[in-house]
Formats: sequence, structure tokens, C-alpha cells
Amino acid sequence: MAGKQAFLYTAALHKKLPAKGMKIEFSPQDEQFRAEVRGFLDAKLSPEMRAEAKKTTTVFADKDLAMKWQLILLEKGWAVPSWPEEHGGPGWSITQKYIWNEETAKAGAPGVIPLGLRMLAPVLFKYGTEEQKAYYLPRMLTGEHYWCQGYSEPGSGSDLSSLKTSAVKDGDDYIVNGTKIWTTHAQFADHIFCLVRTNPNVRPQAGISFLLIPMNLPGIKVEPIITMAADHEVNQVFLDDVRVPQKNRVGPENEGWTLAKYLLEYERGGGAASAGLKVSLAELKSIAVKERDDGTRLIDDPGFNGRISDLEIRIQALEFAELVTLSKLSKGESPGAGSSLAKNTSVELNQQLNTLKMEAIHYYMLPHANLISLNGHNDPWVGPGYAETVTARYLNARAASIFGGAKEVQKNIIAKTVLGL
Ligand SMILES: Cc1cc2nc3c(=O)[nH]c(=O)nc-3n(C[C@H](O)[C@H](O)[C@H](O)COP(=O)(O)OP(=O)(O)OC[C@H]3O[C@@H](n4cnc5c(N)ncnc54)[C@H](O)[C@@H]3O)c2cc1C
Repeated sequence: MAGKQAFLYTAALHKKLPAKGMKIEFSPQDEQFRAEVRGFLDAKLSPEMRAEAKKTTTVFADKDLAMKWQLILLEKGWAVPSWPEEHGGPGWSITQKYIWNEETAKAGAPGVIPLGLRMLAPVLFKYGTEEQKAYYLPRMLTGEHYWCQGYSEPGSGSDLSSLKTSAVKDGDDYIVNGTKIWTTHAQFADHIFCLVRTNPNVRPQAGISFLLIPMNLPGIKVEPIITMAADHEVNQVFLDDVRVPQKNRVGPENEGWTLAKYLLEYERGGGAASAGLKVSLAELKSIAVKERDDGTRLIDDPGFNGRISDLEIRIQALEFAELVTLSKLSKGESPGAGSSLAKNTSVELNQQLNTLKMEAIHYYMLPHANLISLNGHNDPWVGPGYAETVTARYLNARAASIFGGAKEVQKNIIAKTVLGL
């Protein structure tokens, strides 16, 4: 089923759009909304911001760029499409969210950093106290608070419930000791949401709590980890005798595992990757028009073109699955285990797109040339513009089948909860 057909099918199911036989069209109101979005992007997303976003090779956009864009969106009331209206969401329908994702991806807008807005916020909506919501939500919206995620530890990644960072009660506080690893953007963050062990004497999942910790507390140290793509995106965070008020705990003590899993559903599948994949597919096609193998344009090579077509069909199928998720979210349901399916598929498709791009640019893939060019050296990039970020993106995208839960672990979840095995 083609992407738009799938969308109309889903939208018609929810009586948002008229499905006129097989004719595919959006309602006039939705077309008007699309025009408004385009007008906004034309006016507010400057060529400089687009150019900077285009150079992003990491999972998240550069913090300054992302925050600049977030504030522009906030002014318009469009920073958090998935939030309830009473907290600042725009009240969009699933169709409008779909249009928004598609248009921002096409325009090359920088991504909004999801750690606070799309991962912690849903947990606060569901499990936070009124006081916690009133304090944290407005501050993450304005960027006054910048969050990172303290789940993984050395030895506790896939087997997350084995985590050892301890939080021991002392008066009104917890004393926290341990270390978190692979913490994305911890070097920028002023707050970390952490899973900590509050009871070591029960089965692992039953002794975990969910704590919000300011990063400026005494006893917190952040050490960088540089990836093979030469990026500083992840870190190790050390917590030594950090005194955290008990009121910073979200949800009941020892019930943090429920919150942790709820958040992971949003981390894995709350978004819509197909819009970005379609843009990347278009880039791949345009590279395949320019690059040749033995004089033949790659786009005319049946083998290469066949692989492009295969990806195109699978991206359309993913789009359909994402629309089903969007529809669930719009009804206030969580993404569920289908988010594991969506995560694995989108990651695999992105990695395959990057692999084909690497094959297409062949000798421009020399990693050092790319890395040197991207990391502030003055040597100009010697290849065509379309090849400049390909290697760094290819390398960075390898991590996507690990973070947010490794691909094998997602398969286990799918086997158990979707297939009932
Ligand atoms: C770029 C990047 C950013 C990250 N950002 C963050 C972050 O901000 N915050 C955070 O908390 N964490 C973050 N992580 C950590 C990430 O969640 C973990 O790396 C991931 O959960 C895997 O854990 P691990 O690295 O300990 O590998 P392991 O759990 O040791 O897994 C090693 C291998 O064994 C396989 N495996 C493990 N268990 C099973 C099983 N039961 N069945 C089949 N195969 C299995 C895995 O699939 C994997 O291939 C990030 C990781 C990366 C790479």
C-alpha cells in the first residue's frame, strides 16, 4: 500500500478524512494547514539553519541549533505537537502531525531534542505530581532545563533491570552512588533522569526508582566518550555520594521499572522516521543519477536500482505502521510493543540507505577525509557536496541498532508480546 493511500486509509478509519474510492486527497482544511506550515518554514527556517542542519551527522542536532529552533517553534506554539493542549500542545489532529513531520523533514529542519520533550514529558504527564509537572514541564519547553537519560550502566544495558546505582534514604534525601554510561548530551545537560536501586533485596525489577537529578549537585562528574565517527555525543556520568531530595522521585518508591518501560516505548517508537527516510531516499536517488559505474549511471544499473526500489517499498510500509502508532497516540494510548517493531525497521532502513550511499560515492567514502573536513579543519572538502556527510552518517547510524535497546532485544520483545511466543 502506497504511503499516502495507507495514510488515507488510517485517517478514514478515524473519520478525519473523506476516502473517495481510491482517489487520494487531503481535506481542504488539511491542505490549508500544510500551506500554513510551509509558509512558516519559509519565513522562520533560515537558509543558515537549514545548511547547519544538513551537516548534522549525529543522532541529535547540535544543541545550540536545536534550542534556537525549539524557541522559534515555542513562539508559534508548535514546539510540542504530542503534548496535551493544557500543557502547551497545539491540539493537532493525527493528520496535522503527519503533515508537520513530512514538511519539516522535507524542509531540512533540525530535530527537536527528544530527551526532555518526548521522553521524560510523557512520564511526567502520567506519573508526575502536580508540583513536578508545574515545575519541570515549562522549563523543558523554554530550554531552561536540558535533560539527559541515565538508564544504562557498565554491565547493565540490555539487562537494564540489573542496574546497580544505589539510592539510600537519609532524612529527606537519597544518597546516590554509581555510574551511568553512554549518556547522550550529558556534557550539555543540567538535569538527568535516572534509574536507581532503592531496594537490593527483592527481584531486580521490584527495587528500582525513577529520580530527577540536577547535574550541578556536588559529586557528579561527566567524562566524554568519543565515537568511531569522531563525535562527542555520549559520556560516562559518575555519581559519588550525591544528595538528592526524595521529592525528586517520580512515581512510588521501588516502582520505577514501570515508568522506565513506559518511557522506552516513547524513545523507541513515539516518532515518525519515515518522513526523514523519504528525504534520505531522495538524496540517494540524486546521488545515483550523478555517480557512475563503468560509465553507467547507478540509477540505470538494474542491480543498484532494484535495491533502491526495495528500500522505497519498505519505507512506505513503515510509514503505514507509523500512522497506526500516531493514531494510537492521538487516542491517548501508548505506542505499545509495536514501537519495537517500528524502531528495528526504521533503523535497518536507515542503515541500508547509508550503506547504498557509501557504495554510490565509492572513493569519497575515505573516512579520514570526511572526518577531517567535518571537524573544523580548514582543509576544504574536496569531493562533491552530496558526499561530504555520507561516511560520518554511515558510522553514526551503526549505533542506532544499539541505543534505545539493541535490535536483538527488540526482537525478543516482539516475539513475546506481539507474536505471543
Ligand atoms: C550512541 C548511543 C547513545 C546512547 N545513549 C544513551 C543514553 O542517553 N542513555 C542511556 O541510558 N543509554 C544510552 N545508550 C545505551 C544503550 O541503551 C545500550 O548500549 C543498549 O541498551 C545496549 O546495552 P549494552 O551496550 O550494555 O550492550 P549489551 O546489553 O551488553 O549487549 C551486547 C550484545 O548482546 C546482545 N544481547 C544482549 N542481551 C540479549 C538477549 N537477551 N538476547 C539476544 N541478544 C542479546 C545485544 O543485542 C548486543 O548485540 C546509548 C548507546 C549508544 C550506542
